[in-house]
This record gives sequence, structure tokens and C-alpha cells, in this order.
Amino acid sequence: MRCRECRELLELTEVEPVQGQSGGVAVELFGLRLGRCGAAGHAPEPPFPDFAADLVAAVTAGDALPTARQRGWRRSRTLCAGCGAGLEGEPREGEVRARVRVERAAPLTVTVRGPCLECPACRKRQLPGTPEHRSALTRALLAALGASGLVVE
Ligand SMILES: [Zn+2]
Ligand SMILES: [Zn+2]
Repeated sequence: MRCRECRELLELTEVEPVQGQSGGVAVELFGLRLGRCGAAGHAPEPPFPDFAADLVAAVTAGDALPTARQRGWRRSRTLCAGCGAGLEGEPREGEVRARVRVERAAPLTVTVRGPCLECPACRKRQLPGTPEHRSALTRALLAALGASGLVVE
């Protein structure tokens, strides 16, 4: 992997934690590893070209972070990611954190703050899993990656 600007050979190194937010959802990424030459204005390189898309997919579509399941007609029922019990009530401000694996990249820790549901049966705290929450989470993730200097479309 080489810097696009100066062609210096790059090695992946861990960068400072980065944050991003959108629509009341804030994310923080710990352990992100990028290739950087160190020159001012030279954007870092991701571990591989589709890294940003794969990270977004791992966080928003996978089971990496506990996420309530929406079921039934017009997603009328919300089920606990842990025990499957029905969840009712409004989301409340909270935080979930998990180690997220992206194939071909080092695992990183992702913290998501914002609306969360807590299961009355097993007490598991989880993300609401609604389309609105997923899209806010996607934008927050892209903002966090952008904060690292990475160029994300
Ligand atoms: Zn460079
Ligand atoms: Zn539960």
C-alpha cells in the first residue's frame, strides 16, 4: 500500500479514537488502523479499498452490536436481541459497545451512544434497529471515518 500523493510505502498503524455523529446517534471507533505517510494533507489509506462499506455493513446489518429485531406487519413488534422477549416503550438515551470484526482488517471497538432499548426480561441494552436508527448510525460511522482523514463517499 502506498500514499496516493507521495508514493511512500505505508504500514497500517493504529490511529487515535475518532468520533462522528448524526441524527442523535454518536459513534466512537477505537483501534482503527490506517496507512499514513505523516505528511500534512496526505489522506490516510484504508486497510483495503472497500473497508468503509464493509465496516458500515458489519455495524448496521450484522449482529456485531446488540440490535433489537423488528418483526411483523410494518415492523409492529420489536424483539430483544438477547432473549427474544417483546420490547415495548420508548427508547432511552444509552450506550452500547462491542468489538467488531471486519474481514481482512484488525478488529476494532465501536461505541454507539443515543437511543437504546433495554429488555425488561434479560436487561440487555440494545440499539432500536429501526430503519431511521440504522441510517443515522451509517451517517455517524461515515462521519467518524471522515474524522480520521479517510476519504469516504
Ligand atoms: Zn504521502
Ligand atoms: Zn431480553
